[in-house]
This record gives sequence, C-alpha cells and structure tokens, in this order.
Amino acid sequence: MVKINNYTNGKLTSVSRKYLDVFDPSKGEKINEVVLSNEEDFKNTILSSKKAFIDWSEVTPLKRSRILSNYKTLIEKNIDELAKLVSSEHGKTLDDAKGSVIRGLEVVEFACGIPHLLKGEFSQNVGSGIDSWSIRQPLGVTAGITPFNFPAMVPMWMYPISIACGNSFILKPSEKDPSCSIKLAELFSEAGLPDGVFNIINGDKEIVDLIINSNEISSISFVGSTPVAKYIYETSAKNGKRVQALGGAKNHLIVMPDANLDQAVDGIMGAAYGSAGERCMAVSVAVAVGDIADKLVENISSKAESLIVAPWTDSSSQMGPVISKEHKDKIENYISSGIEEGAKLVLDGRNFKIQGYENGYFVGPTLFDNVKKDMKIYKDEIFGPVLSVVRAKNYDEALNLVNNHAFGNGTSIYTSDGEVSRHFTTNCKIGMVGVNVPIPVPMAFHSFGGWKQSLFGDHAMHGTEGVNFYTKLKTVTSRWPKSIQKGPEFIMPTN
Ligand code: NAD
Repeated sequence: MVKINNYTNGKLTSVSRKYLDVFDPSKGEKINEVVLSNEEDFKNTILSSKKAFIDWSEVTPLKRSRILSNYKTLIEKNIDELAKLVSSEHGKTLDDAKGSVIRGLEVVEFACGIPHLLKGEFSQNVGSGIDSWSIRQPLGVTAGITPFNFPAMVPMWMYPISIACGNSFILKPSEKDPSCSIKLAELFSEAGLPDGVFNIINGDKEIVDLIINSNEISSISFVGSTPVAKYIYETSAKNGKRVQALGGAKNHLIVMPDANLDQAVDGIMGAAYGSAGERCMAVSVAVAVGDIADKLVENISSKAESLIVAPWTDSSSQMGPVISKEHKDKIENYISSGIEEGAKLVLDGRNFKIQGYENGYFVGPTLFDNVKKDMKIYKDEIFGPVLSVVRAKNYDEALNLVNNHAFGNGTSIYTSDGEVSRHFTTNCKIGMVGVNVPIPVPMAFHSFGGWKQSLFGDHAMHGTEGVNFYTKLKTVTSRWPKSIQKGPEFIMPTN
C-alpha cells in the first residue's frame, strides 16, 4: 500500500495527515491512501508555483520544447508502468489504459511545436512608419481539476500546453485514482522541468474550493460532472479567473436504415461498453431509424451477451468494473428505474458476479429497447455500461432528439448517404461529431469540447484553443523612426 502525497517543488510531501482510501475496483479492496491536503499544503504549493513561474516564463519556447521532447521519450519508455497505474486504480483494461496514455502523449507531441504555435501575427506599415504585431504571453499560475475516468489523458489535455506556454501548473487529480499523475510529474522532472513548474495537490472539495477562490491562480481548467462543472465555472468566473469547465454527456449514435449494420453494431459495442461506459464520449443512446431497429437490437444483444467482463489483470478482458461501490449501486438503481418507467430490458447487468472477485464493482453489459425521451434513463448521464435504444420514425425525428437533449458533447451518424451526413454535421447542436465513426474524439492538434451542458466557458481543450486559453493576447503598435514629428492629433488615426 502506498501513501500518496503531494508533488510540490519536485518532492513528495504533505503537511496534512488526513488520508482517504483508494480502492482496486476489481476486488473492492483498499490498495492505497491519498492525502486530503489542508490550507498549509495549499500555501506551500502556491508559493512554489508562483516562484517557479518567474523563471520558467523567461525560458525560451525552444528550450521549453526540448524539455517536452525529453518528456515524450520518457513517457514512451514508461508507458507500461503508467498504464498499470491507471488500470489498478480505475479498473479499465490494460490496452485501454495504454491507449488513453497515448492520447495524452499526443498532446505532449503537439506542445513540442510551441515555438511555432506562439509566433503571433505581424503587419508592417499599418500606418506610415508604423508596424503592429501580436504576442501571446503566459497567464501565471494555472490550475486543473480532473475526473476519475481518465487519470492520465485528461490532465495531459491541460498541463503540457499550459507549461509549454510558459505558465506554472497545479493539478488536482481525482482522489479515486491519483497515482498515475504523480508518476507523470516525476517523469517531467526527470525530463528537465524545473521544480515547481508542475505541482500536484491531492484532496477533495475542500482543496478545490481553495483553488477556485485563490487570488494567486489565473485560470482554471476543469473536467468532471455537469453540476460540479457549473459550480466551478460560476465561482471561478466570479473570482475573475479565465475558466473552461467541461461537464457530462449523453451521446447519441444514429443508425440510418441504409447504414452498414455490422459496422454500426461493432462501433456501438466499443463505444457503449468500452471502459464500462465510463467515458464522456461513450455512446449511451443508439437511435434506430425506421425498420433497422429490430435487427440492430438483436445484433447488439447477441454481441453484448458474449462480451468478456473481467479484471484488468486478465488479458482477455474487454470490460472491467466501474469505479466504486456507490457508483455500481447508482447504475443498478438506474436500471431498476428504466424497468419501472416501461422501457424493455433486453440485457440485465445487475448482480453481475465474477468468481474470485465477488466484491468487485462489476456491472454487466445492459441493453434497453423502446426507451422514451421522458424517462430518467434517457435524460440523465448514467456513466455505466447501459445502452438505451430509442426508435425514431425518420431522420428528422432522430436529429430532433440529438438537438433537444440537454447535453451536447459528442454524437455520430452511421449512414451511406452523403447528403444526410452533410446535413447532420451542419445542423446538429453538438461539439464533436462523427460520420461512421463511433467516438469522434478530436486529435491533439484539433480541440476537444462539447456544447450546451457539456461545456461552460468559451474555450475547448488542447489544439490552438488550448494555446489561446493559456496565453494572454497583447497587440503592439510601434512607430519608428523618431524623426517623424506631426504634432498632437485629436481625432482617431485612419489610413
Ligand atoms: P466529478 O465531478 O465528481 O469530479 C471531478 C473533480 O471534481 C474531481 O477532482 C473531484 O475531486 C472534484 N469534485 C467533486 N465534487 C466536487 C464538489 N462538490 N466541489 C468541488 N470539487 C468537486 O466527476 P467524476 O465522477 O470524477 O468524473 C465523471 C464525470 O466527468 C462524468 O460526468 C463525465 O461525463 C465527466 N467527464 C467529462 C469529460 C468531458 O470532456 N466533457 C471528460 C471526462 C469526464
């Protein structure tokens, strides 16, 4: 068992002696403890981050890029250990964990291009002898608060870009699976990052409240559930901070009658049940259009029945447990409510037991048919391996379902009709859209973010949106040489 402390100024340390249990979700057993930081820990972190920012912001972008490049190599070398840390505390399969670290690594690769990304714009002769240019300067101490479901990837959406831009960064990881971020911070130090540029402070709501109310922190990046995202956004904005707060989701995948059914079913299987449905881009609603519905339900059901649910230590596992006992209970209550509200339960994942892992937090793949839009299982984010099939008469009805839902993170359409697909990508009110692609997560050099209740704030994460979020724009207008003497002017200058 490891006692997980904070990572402050390049050292593992904490003042607080209060710890919270961290579990192995496959066994339901305590494996580690994480510190619940107090005000003194927070003061130490802030002090270190403020001091580190002064020198780091002066380091040239090219030198920062070289450290990021070393970091990339170290992550690649340590990928197996990083993936194991993710799986052991989260429960997802090892291959899936590895994939998530690689998606984070891609942001590091993107951030290596920071000298190019910070170039700004230049205009010569905006007036006679006058030039104008824009520069992007770092914000100062920046912070990120992250969820349990991607303990490597989501923090890596944030800190590599913030740090590349010349900021210092404080990460508050999820208290449910904090080990991987500590390893990521240690590797960054090994790559040559000066102490204090990347600090980690562990804890729960108490520490989050200190972060979002602190005058010393310039920006907050948050990813988590919608009620917390809204609270973080409102409180941080009230305190004058720049803020991006990504929330929950209810992603619809539309299957048109002309879709390649096998492709659609395979796409739905991975997107609905991969990572036990605990992905913000998971598909939780399949909208079956027209007469494809019966075949779709039948094919998903037969594939889901044979899906291998097992702990991450079993290399044949396709789906692991959910994160906690409380979350398992919450998902099973949703399944019961779906039955009470009249949906047809095709596959029931409640009371799922694996021999030798009877106390693990497993929920089997669950499938509902005939789900209606006023049901709780349709309206709420369940965040588990529960797929709802909604039947729609035609494309317009399907599009309305997507557009009228409160969440707007991701969506996808399976069709062989280019005109329908073009109409859908243009008219759906969703941030990330797929055509014959089940989980349209943008690459690091594009930006990640939803609409509606899935994102509060104006900037998505990573890509150029990330660079803009972590920098302040300054535009300089300069007249040279000094020999031009025109006397005072009292009107707006024009050309
Ligand atoms: P969560 O909102 O419970 O926790 C997220 C973070 O906020 C954690 O670090 C936690 O310690 C902190 N926190 C929790 N309650 C708080 C409170 N009352 N006040 C202040 N801080 C608080 O989310 P989670 O359960 O860890 O993660 C799952 C959620 O994250 C899902 O809703 C999922 O859709 C969402 N998510 C969204 C995205 C996205 O990109 N939109 C990506 C990943 C996960």
